[in-house]
Amino acid sequence: MTGKNNPGAAGQRPRHVPVRTCIVCREKAGKRTLTRLVSTPDGVVIDPSGKLNGRGAYLCDQKQCWERAVNTDILAKALKTPLSADDRIRLKQAKFAS
Ligand SMILES: [Zn+2]
Repeated sequence: MTGKNNPGAAGQRPRHVPVRTCIVCREKAGKRTLTRLVSTPDGVVIDPSGKLNGRGAYLCDQKQCWERAVNTDILAKALKTPLSADDRIRLKQAKFAS
């Protein structure tokens, strides 16, 4: 969806908000409430834009969901890729650093 001629405003129309499901607690929520994580060649990264290519998984804002996703194999299974120790540390810090 990048680099091509964009129809711009003409392509916009009212749509339902896409509903995603937290991979840990199965809470359904609008796309904006959940954070997308994507498996990339550089590891698993947070994708705030939602535009990265690759297999994605969604997590809600609850700290316990992030901890479970990172500390267990839930996220690894959802992304069908193993999480490295570095990924686990980085994701936790990215979410809770502030
Ligand atoms: Zn959750």
